[in-house]
Amino acid sequence: MHRLQAAYHNLFDYFGPQHWWPGDTTLEILVGAVLTQNTNWANVSKAIANLKQEGVLSLEALSVLPADQLAEMIRPSGYFNLKAQRLKNLLTVLGEEVAATDSLADFFSQDLFSLREKLLSVKGIGPETADSILLYAGQKPIFVVDTYTYRFLSRHGLVGEESSYEEMQELFMAALPAEVGLYNEYHALLVCLGKEFCKKNDPRCEACPLQGDLPGH
Ligand code: SF4
Repeated sequence: MHRLQAAYHNLFDYFGPQHWWPGDTTLEILVGAVLTQNTNWANVSKAIANLKQEGVLSLEALSVLPADQLAEMIRPSGYFNLKAQRLKNLLTVLGEEVAATDSLADFFSQDLFSLREKLLSVKGIGPETADSILLYAGQKPIFVVDTYTYRFLSRHGLVGEESSYEEMQELFMAALPAEVGLYNEYHALLVCLGKEFCKKNDPRCEACPLQGDLPGH
């Protein structure tokens, strides 16, 4: 078994299923992926609750909502002016594609890599957010990389300082079958690992479920 597969099984045995990504609709998950940048999920939940309470969590309502009003509603998520503008930028691109149906289903029925290019062309949407949208909202088989992923890989000598986002992504995608459920769970488990064991300072290697599985530690 590939070491990244073995690591997955050990993490899953230890932490159990993580049930990501919380959200009642595809749009809610997509909005959450933008709002979660540089904040924790509790703050994102408050912002999403505000959007629901104001009755604007639909493509139609969000696209006509002025950016300053949107910013006020998502204030709990932090960087609210920036995030409101990012959401508006994203909605503009989506709007061109979904105007006829007011549904994201047609948008996400497109080819994964052309969708990824479209998302990356939106100002303020980087690879991690684009891939989170694709995996969690679009149910597309693409691995999401974040700081926790990098830390875990680099501490075990699996990537170098210069490794790009796409190189790290490819490590996982080459080692694992292209399954949405697996990519979903693995990313969530790496977040748990980073928060509980593979911390930025003082990693808890002695107690870590991956201790002994991988080179370097
Ligand atoms: S063994 Fe140490 S370095 Fe490796 S994942 Fe666990 S905490 Fe991080």
